[in-house]
Amino acid sequence: MTDFLEALKTELGEDVFLGADIPERFHNDWAGMAPVVPLALVRPRSTAQVAAAMRLCNEYRIPLTPQGGLTGLAGGARPIEGGVALSLDRMNRIEEIDTVMATMTIEAGATLGAAQRAAEEAGLFLGLDLGARDSCMIGGTLSTNAGGNRVIRFGMAREHVLGLEVVLPDGTIVTSLNKMLKNNAGYDLKQLFVGSEGTLGIITRAVLRLQARPAELASAFCACPDFPALLELLKSARQRLGAALTSFEVMWPSFYDFMTGGLPGCAGRSRRATASMS
Ligand SMILES: Cc1cc2nc3c(=O)[nH]c(=O)nc-3n(C[C@H](O)[C@H](O)[C@H](O)COP(=O)(O)OP(=O)(O)OC[C@H]3O[C@@H](n4cnc5c(N)ncnc54)[C@H](O)[C@@H]3O)c2cc1C
Repeated sequence: MTDFLEALKTELGEDVFLGADIPERFHNDWAGMAPVVPLALVRPRSTAQVAAAMRLCNEYRIPLTPQGGLTGLAGGARPIEGGVALSLDRMNRIEEIDTVMATMTIEAGATLGAAQRAAEEAGLFLGLDLGARDSCMIGGTLSTNAGGNRVIRFGMAREHVLGLEVVLPDGTIVTSLNKMLKNNAGYDLKQLFVGSEGTLGIITRAVLRLQARPAELASAFCACPDFPALLELLKSARQRLGAALTSFEVMWPSFYDFMTGGLPGCAGRSRRATASMS
């Protein structure tokens, strides 16, 4: 064990944290399971450093848990006892926005919110969105193939990915930072890593597909008497709005009552399903 930690320190120096120097936030994710203090925390600043950590863990047979924004609700980013936690939080650069190709090349540790704002500043739009946007990171969001608010229009996380850079467990770096939308060149290996939750490798960089920025956005909040009426509303909104319908979220009466019950002036009880759409 000491040999392993010495080798890790030699390769990654001050980017390795041990014992009491590991901040508490890296002991757990949002799943709320019992926290675990990892053997070591690594916070690399480059893909080469991720590769070095992976190669050493593989050589010494030490389990490694990749960590993004720690907002996952299944405990996947919680460290393993006696293992290494590797946080991508320092690899958070937005490297390029190509306004002609409508793509963004981004490091895995950038938050989804930062990516959205950068796209808007460039006059474009990132269709991927979820409630954890300012905490979840691009690597975590792609590795969980997160869905979010706008799936109905833009699809799951995997549909926003044009290219990926990934580090395999033995430290090999696989790069396919493709920016072409029209690309049918053979096996689409990058999609193996999307949704595989870090089990096949660590995502270090991605090329995301951007959209034209919508000229305007309007939201409607509708109450429906029953489930068939809700489906009718969805059908009708789809028919009339077509591609302009970007989201359609349903709140059941129990959720609506819970969220509004404690707020002064919002005590109305609902026996209806409520739909919000944009
Ligand atoms: C308020 C809130 C709203 C949410 N809304 C939605 C939603 O609408 N739709 C939805 O699908 N999910 C939703 N989620 C859960 C969602 O999966 C996560 O929020 C987010 O996508 C995970 O990103 P993260 O950076 O926090 O990953 P983490 O929680 O840090 O990690 C998640 C998993 O990915 C692995 N991982 C992390 N980074 C990498 C990497 N770079 N390479 C490889 N593996 C990695 C981890 O080991 C772990 O297994 C929500 C969560 C919250 C708290």
